Amino acid sequence: MRLVDLTDKRFGMLKVLKRADYNKGKNVVWVCQCDCGNVVDKVGNYLKTGDTQSCGCYKKRNEQTNLRDQYDAKRVDGVAKQLFKDKVPRKDSSTGFRGVSKYYTRKSKELRYRAWITVAGERKYKSGFLTAEDAYYKGRLWLEQKYLPKGDNTNA
Ligand SMILES: [Zn+2]
Repeated sequence: MRLVDLTDKRFGMLKVLKRADYNKGKNVVWVCQCDCGNVVDKVGNYLKTGDTQSCGCYKKRNEQTNLRDQYDAKRVDGVAKQLFKDKVPRKDSSTGFRGVSKYYTRKSKELRYRAWITVAGERKYKSGFLTAEDAYYKGRLWLEQKYLPKGDNTNA
């Protein structure tokens, strides 16, 4: 069978960098970079059929999100949405939310969001959010409530 060159092709979160220097049986293996930053070797056929769409982090993240949502639904969501429903995030930062930045976890290099606020020249953080929206509503606005005097949270 003729080799189809998958270099630079994208499959879900994976972008093919180059062909690996080995095969798995009759299957051609490709070196792929995941959107999360991981570089992994994947069999070309699974990429083409859609069976492989990330380095494995996507599945993991969904599981974590589900667990966390169940937990938060009870504890935080109701409160946060009530408290902050009149707040509209300003879409002017790289994440689309004021006071929210992306980062990658040190060990597993997974994408996370961190909320921050500057109070009297000192920066306060709340990290570990899976989405920018969460970081804003449950992090940034929480920080505003905690650190800013009431009614003075416009320019921080
Ligand atoms: Zn990944």
